[in-house]
Amino acid sequence: MAKRADAAGCAVPRIELLVIQPTPFCNIECRYCYLPERNSKAVVAPETLVNLFSQVFASGWLHDCVSIVWHAGEPMVLPVAFYRDAFRMIDRTKPGGLTVTHSFQTNGTLIDEAWCDFFAEERVNVGVSIDGPKRLHDRNRLTRSGRGTFDKTIRGIRLLRRREIPFHVISVLSVASMAVPSEMFDFYAEEGIERVCFNVEESEGDHVSQSFADGEVDAAYYRFLSEFWRLSSAMPGKIKFIREIEHALQQVIRPKDAPFNNQLVEPFAITSMDWAGNISTFSPELLGLKNAQYGDFLLGNINRDALVEMPQRLNFVRMTKDIQAGVAMCRERCEYFSVCGGGEPVNKLAENGSFVSTETTYCRVTKMRATDLVLNALERVPPSSSGRTEPSLPLGMPAHARDQPARSG
Ligand code: SF4
Repeated sequence: MAKRADAAGCAVPRIELLVIQPTPFCNIECRYCYLPERNSKAVVAPETLVNLFSQVFASGWLHDCVSIVWHAGEPMVLPVAFYRDAFRMIDRTKPGGLTVTHSFQTNGTLIDEAWCDFFAEERVNVGVSIDGPKRLHDRNRLTRSGRGTFDKTIRGIRLLRRREIPFHVISVLSVASMAVPSEMFDFYAEEGIERVCFNVEESEGDHVSQSFADGEVDAAYYRFLSEFWRLSSAMPGKIKFIREIEHALQQVIRPKDAPFNNQLVEPFAITSMDWAGNISTFSPELLGLKNAQYGDFLLGNINRDALVEMPQRLNFVRMTKDIQAGVAMCRERCEYFSVCGGGEPVNKLAENGSFVSTETTYCRVTKMRATDLVLNALERVPPSSSGRTEPSLPLGMPAHARDQPARSG
């Protein structure tokens, strides 16, 4: 896809996703949480939201739709009325013809009838974080006093189901949960959870992943996903969406010349704002991080600075140069580049100490092994009725897959 350019010939950013931190506060305390200010009860001011949206809508950086994710803290600790006011302000300010969608990523402990009314009326995409059955969830997702949060979260999920509000879950996989794919599958199936996304506990900010310390994590992930997918196929109708499989299939089976859009390395494709109005881009997790080399990753404050001038900021220029250098190294060296696009800057920084780097445990797990799994499955597809004896290999796959069997992890 050709990028638009301004009068000086510079590429014009295109905002696809806005991540807004309504508050940094979270009512629980997960063991693997990377959010540095999760004890602060600060709340974004209405004027800050007005400043953000008036600048974003006037920027010329939007196409016909934008997604807004309310996250980076627990969004539901604020009252429903806060969001009703914010959504109406956005509706009043937005240009005609622009489609705006809203998503919440929540721990689910505060879902009640009033929230369900709101989700249904505003057609909010709801993602609930739950790490599997109680014995696994309660190992890491705890209250401040150290008690498990499973009972509250599952109560919220059951209410969403009863109210027929569509939702997906995100489960953070640990070494323990990756060892029991059928227990995980049975849990989702019994609770009527049909759409699942898996994250592997990763190293971000000050948090060092215990799972990543296990040298076998990518093989364990491969085995888990493989068995989970097999169970889902064997019992159709239980799990309708496994994000990791869907994404890998989409990337592998695509026209050879279709560009890969990695939002995480495109300036401002993901634009993040914290409660105080500070703006960042690339990986949303960079918003709250500090680093000896870069200081912080902030590009300015929406209450004081012009959004459209942020690309001229020195730290933006430096960050962009380094992230693009890392992408170029990936393009040159990695056989998975066509299905990855250069990975996640925040993981490169956390694991390798630099954006100017390539492989991480995170990408080995989430990109390489998920791709291998899909490729191995496609290679087992029986010959077509046309009499061809070779499986029809998709065009967007990594080069190695056409020449040799995909690794089994
Ligand atoms: S899989 Fe890893 S090494 Fe390969 S392109 Fe992606 S980030 Fe780079």
